[in-house]
Amino acid sequence: MTGVFKNYINGEWIESRSPSLLDVVNPADGRILARVPEGSAEDVALAAESAHKAYLSWREVPATQRIQYLFRMKQILEKNADEISEICTRESGKTFSESKAEIVRAVENIEVACGIPKLLQSEFSEDITKGIDEFVIRQPVGVGACIAPFNFPVMITFWFMPYAIACGNAYIVKPSEKVPGTMTRIFELFEELKLPSGVLNLVHGGKETVDAILNHPEIPAISFVGSTRVAKYIYQTGVTKGKRVQAQGGAKNPVVVMGDADPETTVKIIADSAFGCAGQRCLAASIVILVGDASKTFAQRIVAAAMTKKTGNGLAKDIEMGPVITRESKDRINGLIQKSVDDGAKLLLDGRNIRVPGFEMGNFIGPTILGEVSPENEIYSTEVFGPVLCIVNTETLDEAITLINKSRYGNSACIFTRSGAAARKFRHETLAGNIGINIGIAAPMAFFPFSGWKDSFFGDLHGQSNHAVEFYTQTKVVIERWHDEWTRKF
Ligand code: NAD
Repeated sequence: MTGVFKNYINGEWIESRSPSLLDVVNPADGRILARVPEGSAEDVALAAESAHKAYLSWREVPATQRIQYLFRMKQILEKNADEISEICTRESGKTFSESKAEIVRAVENIEVACGIPKLLQSEFSEDITKGIDEFVIRQPVGVGACIAPFNFPVMITFWFMPYAIACGNAYIVKPSEKVPGTMTRIFELFEELKLPSGVLNLVHGGKETVDAILNHPEIPAISFVGSTRVAKYIYQTGVTKGKRVQAQGGAKNPVVVMGDADPETTVKIIADSAFGCAGQRCLAASIVILVGDASKTFAQRIVAAAMTKKTGNGLAKDIEMGPVITRESKDRINGLIQKSVDDGAKLLLDGRNIRVPGFEMGNFIGPTILGEVSPENEIYSTEVFGPVLCIVNTETLDEAITLINKSRYGNSACIFTRSGAAARKFRHETLAGNIGINIGIAAPMAFFPFSGWKDSFFGDLHGQSNHAVEFYTQTKVVIERWHDEWTRKF
């Protein structure tokens, strides 16, 4: 990776019209890997116009033929998984195996989208009255765009893009300006697909590019994933322009541990959930609520499990946790830890002064655990997006559910228990879009829709699976009559 990233528009690599460049930095050593344009409205206009033109012919290609490109897309990702993972790790900081795992999730979405000839099927009613039939057809919306966050440079685009193009739309991908190299390489590899020019486009940049996407009349559908602040902005702005928008936001995911939970598996799963990807997953456990007897033993057990996590450069062997994305993130997270200690939380494990030999300029924070965190403490309600786990104690499951339901976020909530009744109550009463029962990450599997509730999501239809198909199609209802007499003439 060197130089300045280009946009991929209408089947060609072209320089951005924006004169401003941003550094793309390796979070493990602080070195500049490449530069990315800040983006411009002109770039977006070029992409939108070529995508719109491409869509007009692409929608005429039968779905059975469109998916042939997806079968090849899957093969390309699988064949090049190591190379893509290395780039992903260099620019995002996550470990090599975490990078590879997100490619698996991306591929699963391509596989589900390959079922589009079936997924596009709709309803048909014969004889709604004598001799008249009525049915629904699904047609593409035109041009779609995905605006992606930094933390899954591969996977998140695939929650939307394969479905959108399989449905007959053309598409624009806007990766995070912090990790633009991974998607750039994927697009280079996708040239082998020989998709018709303009069907798939890549536009780099930050806010200016996003605003141009929001304002362009030829981009009627937008899928966004990122922080709540930006998700709300994208949703509100897009909707006022008459677009359909699905905007997934931030999270603060609670995990409830009941006294009867299996200690060994629970503790390992919670540590993996909280500290995997250095806590930079929208489904990461960030609050553990110990109910009743669980408060006696689980805190120390979780600390012991966290202490085994090996932090370092994600490309090195046996590393389980990489750095956080930027120096600013590291400073912000360290500040939040200090503030919560000042406010009365107990520092059970402090990862702030971790040293990774040879990587002194990296943004490393080791696993950090805060005990006896009060819901009034700022860290309790703030999305940390780093390897920090807060522990809270309650007497009953009811109290735990009440606490969870007060949160502004609702991405996921998990419970560990051997009681079917407790699990059932939890899944029924908890206000969150994804529930885990003896699971630490209620992961987005491609064959189910995925999204949170409350401030973790703005919109209606979620990402992936049949929701993605519905989002990227519009329904047309046809009512028709064929007179018998006309038929008899033939
Ligand atoms: P972010 O909101 O800073 O950026 C996301 C995208 O929005 C990027 O492409 C960026 O260029 C663009 N952007 C940033 N600021 C903007 C602005 N002011 N106006 C217009 N566009 C803007 O998010 P991030 O830091 O890249 O990612 C981390 C966040 O994403 C966390 O909050 C995390 O919880 C969330 N996330 C949510 C999910 C989910 O499924 N709900 C999944 C992954 C990440």
